[in-house]
Amino acid sequence: MTVIAPGGHIGILGDGQLGRMMAIAAAEMGYFVHVFGPEENSPAAQVSHRSTVAAYGDKAALETFAKSVDVVTLEFENIPTDTLEFLNALVPVRPNAKVLEITQDRLYEKSFINNLGIGTATFANVESIDELVAAIKQIKLPAILKTRRLGYDGKGQVKITGSSDLDDVWKEMKDAPSILEGFVNFKMEISVIVARSTQGEIACYCPVENRHKNHILDITLAPADIPKRLVDKAIEVAGKIAAKIDLVGMIAVEMFVTKDNQILVNELAPRPHNSGHWTIEGCATSQFKQIIRAVCGLPLGQPERHSNAVMTNLIGDDVESWGALLEDPENSLHLYGKAEAREGRKMGHVTKLFPLNQKPKA
Ligand code: AMP
Repeated sequence: MTVIAPGGHIGILGDGQLGRMMAIAAAEMGYFVHVFGPEENSPAAQVSHRSTVAAYGDKAALETFAKSVDVVTLEFENIPTDTLEFLNALVPVRPNAKVLEITQDRLYEKSFINNLGIGTATFANVESIDELVAAIKQIKLPAILKTRRLGYDGKGQVKITGSSDLDDVWKEMKDAPSILEGFVNFKMEISVIVARSTQGEIACYCPVENRHKNHILDITLAPADIPKRLVDKAIEVAGKIAAKIDLVGMIAVEMFVTKDNQILVNELAPRPHNSGHWTIEGCATSQFKQIIRAVCGLPLGQPERHSNAVMTNLIGDDVESWGALLEDPENSLHLYGKAEAREGRKMGHVTKLFPLNQKPKA
């Protein structure tokens, strides 16, 4: 498997904050980044050696991009798989199109996970109002109806209870193929981020707790305050998924810890993840340096944390508190270079470290 040595060129599909932090890490490691995405002056382009502003289906632009880099990776999982296949004929693409095919569709993703013997919420495929009625009989209420594709931060989701009008619910889905999921009575949401190298080496960050506000990640606490047995289980689950999906790169595994201490996987994201931003300050190797190592064919770095941490997202207007946040010298502030603070938009984050023997406090 080819090793891309420092001095090489890395292509990143996607131009948001994850691409920005990947590009910064790559530059620190001596690489040149070419970012490809739809936005002018994007967060990632601002810090990259080169950028192409084009649609993900623009074959001419993709060809020029592929010819300018030694490897292609991504920061956004909804890149069309055709695009990855087109690029892969010209340059190694890590992770490969198959990984995205599975993770772009909630039905394929949950089926893949269950086939590994790993638990998820109960689910059923729904493509019509009749199938919705049948699925409710099987799954029972309350339940959540989610579009199979292109949902994020709670978008494309409706909770169904006994008092819901099913015609209205189905109209809201606009006929999009969906899955109905049984409602999980969880006590905590956690995630594990795992990297896998070209040699099949695996490195997992510790499970962290994720708290959401309006369906958007608000706070990550590292580590999650869960018993050792669950820590081991969560890490085992994440490692198994990375190996079986034949990942080269990084995958974030979002999980529920149920009230009876079971672990159920909710969702996979085949890239660095918002719940791993704390690793920039808290670990020997951040998630951003780790993915660069993985896709360049280098040995993985140490994912062990040297500090506990709390990471708070700055969403929309929260970013205006940057001055106050800097008053606390222990805060590490990260801003993403986005000009407009729209509601619900991730504008930056702040990380605070705690000693390993102290619980991180929000
Ligand atoms: P998702 O887009 O699947 O990550 O869902 C967004 C959020 O909705 C999750 O982080 C949970 O807080 C909540 N959620 C999603 N699926 C379920 C479920 N089956 N049961 C309970 N809560 C859920």
